[in-house]
Amino acid sequence: MRIDIITIFPDYFAPLGVSLIGKAAARGDITFGVHDLRDWAHDVHRTVDDTPFGGGPGMVMKPEPWGDALDAVRALGAVPEAAGGSGLLVIPTPAGVPFTQQHAARYAAEPWLIFACGRYEGIDGRVADDARSRMRVEEVSIGDYVLAGGEPAVLVMTEAICRLLPGVLGNAESAADDSFGFGRLESGGPMAGLVEGPSYTRPRLWRGREVPPILLSGDHAAIARWRRDSALRRTARNRPDLVARLAAGVPEPLDRRDREVLSEAGFPVDSEDVAH
Ligand code: SAM
Repeated sequence: MRIDIITIFPDYFAPLGVSLIGKAAARGDITFGVHDLRDWAHDVHRTVDDTPFGGGPGMVMKPEPWGDALDAVRALGAVPEAAGGSGLLVIPTPAGVPFTQQHAARYAAEPWLIFACGRYEGIDGRVADDARSRMRVEEVSIGDYVLAGGEPAVLVMTEAICRLLPGVLGNAESAADDSFGFGRLESGGPMAGLVEGPSYTRPRLWRGREVPPILLSGDHAAIARWRRDSALRRTARNRPDLVARLAAGVPEPLDRRDREVLSEAGFPVDSEDVAH
């Protein structure tokens, strides 16, 4: 996979050389290209922003450097068209659609991603419209809050995407069993639509607190059920929005035990929504 990032702060991306993603890049499984937007500025001061039309506070990123930068990065032809490599432009913005694990999985299947990091009040609106006339463009938000720039959002998304690439995680199963375990959604993955419950390791007894005995039982079916129950309880506690989706049978119908656990957690679910 190739990932190009356009930013006014190329140094921000030093962490891409660290940890699992750094190792994957060193192996050649991921190629990063980090580009300084100011290389496409048109004046000696390398200006990339200007005051907003219509008034208001702050500055807006100028369209010319962005248009030229995107043309130049696209012209790299980093991934041949024949390999499905026309590139997907991802623009982080708090006004975008929420970035989810499903996005991470879909983006991980793309051969070439290009990220455009905004700053100030964002990028002149014509840049995305112009790019859309020649490539696929998606505007995504990493959460309902406002960052100072797209760089941290791109680091977050890059990590979520790259850990799903084959060979990046030590244990490929762990992504499927994570919170929002989309990987086995169709086949009824244990965490589909849920957040994961707590995990435990040695020692068995710590500060008077015991690991739940079932986890030491060796009974794999009982352990799997216990994990699903604790995931349902934690989802009910922390993510009632997800429980509402589960109750509607999304991503898959609940079984009788699921319904009992949700009911005990204060979320009774109608029996017609439930698989028996
Ligand atoms: N005026 C914009 C608004 O209210 O929607 C906010 C601009 S923000 C200060 C500057 C840049 O930070 C954005 O262009 C975007 O690149 C990035 N950014 C801020 N919050 C973000 C979020 N929640 N998700 C993704 N990117 C974000």
